[in-house]
Amino acid sequence: MKLLIKQGRLVDPVSGIGGIMDVLIEDGKIAVLGSDLMYPDAQVLDASGLTVCAGLVDMHVHFRDPGLEYKETIGTGAAAAAHGGFTSVACMPNTKPAVDCPEQVEYVYRKAADACGVHVWPIGAVSVGERGQELTDFEALKKAGVVALSDDGMPVQNANLMRDALILAHRQDLTVLSHCEDAEMVKNYAVNEGRISRQLRLPGRPAIAEEIMVARDAMLAEETGGAVHICHISTAKAVALVRRYKKKGVHITCETCPQYFSLTEDEILTQGSMARVNPPLRTQADVDAIIEGLKDGTIDAIVTDHAPHSAEEKARPLEEAPSGMVGLETSLGVTLTYLYHGRHMALSDILRKMTLNPACILRINKGRLAIGGDADIVIFDPDEEWTVDPAKFASKGRNTPFAGRKLKGKVKYTIANGAIIYRDGD
Ligand SMILES: [Zn+2]
Repeated sequence: MKLLIKQGRLVDPVSGIGGIMDVLIEDGKIAVLGSDLMYPDAQVLDASGLTVCAGLVDMHVHFRDPGLEYKETIGTGAAAAAHGGFTSVACMPNTKPAVDCPEQVEYVYRKAADACGVHVWPIGAVSVGERGQELTDFEALKKAGVVALSDDGMPVQNANLMRDALILAHRQDLTVLSHCEDAEMVKNYAVNEGRISRQLRLPGRPAIAEEIMVARDAMLAEETGGAVHICHISTAKAVALVRRYKKKGVHITCETCPQYFSLTEDEILTQGSMARVNPPLRTQADVDAIIEGLKDGTIDAIVTDHAPHSAEEKARPLEEAPSGMVGLETSLGVTLTYLYHGRHMALSDILRKMTLNPACILRINKGRLAIGGDADIVIFDPDEEWTVDPAKFASKGRNTPFAGRKLKGKVKYTIANGAIIYRDGD
């Protein structure tokens, strides 16, 4: 079975290969990269005017399965990923039950095998039940196939437990992904502490609640030699902290999400609970610092933190609604609109943060176009304009603050293991 992608503009941040090229896929692998390829027996996909790159990798999604399937399942989440150009996603373990033992890891792989072909990589919990009391069996989790460890959603508050986690994760060659918020400082508050929280007369989640945990984890990574990855970084000082510790050679990496470089806390005034997310949307100065961090390499990866909720849940008043937004089907569009068309970054630098970098942090062999490698590819039109219509999402979640927004950059095809798993317009 041969598939020939003709005349696409290849972007490969790894090899630096660029320009108009053809890609031959054979038996699910990339067989040839070249110009004017001719294979009469191949199915031809005309990619002229489109950009071709390695399938996107999202190292931070919530698929709610098992236990909360009314929000999302591994099947619908994988379909949403395909719609968004993602061929690999790593799902957080805060399901019911949590992915804290080999049986739960096997469940994720089993459900993923029945999904649309997107590679779904389980992340194991740091603590049993994500309760922050005792560590899970990292060795058993690693053997079962987890690609990282995290208590995302219920961040590890106990510094001693985090210290032990970094030491033991290091022995298993696993990175600990840390949701950085001090629980006592943020409680269950809905918005950033600042101008908007004062205006609405609500208690807020202060920036320091994130920064103090980033500082703690950076220091623990330095002391233990373990690898820590800061999830969804959102404040200027948190970016500065990571920058400082990276310069010292500490094994620290970090990610941010499209909402943190495109939106500010002002969204709360017009969108209410739809703009509620943890950590909260911050100020323009924070947005500017996030963009700076992306440009200078402090921020390694762009992820979605795809967090589907039901319409009923998000219809609740701001203070009672759950936090989070879906992101898989808008991520590339928002990122290209704000970072590429916004003239902040080159396309290959952006794509590196959505392919190779997250794959390296998870230590999976994905995120690059390599001869003989799996044919996981996204083909997109960087210039096509479209309007976000959540009713068209493959995700069960429709909770996006980008509804109705015009974006520039649209996914046209997603290919996983050589098979076309999404085609725009179908
Ligand atoms: Zn989180």
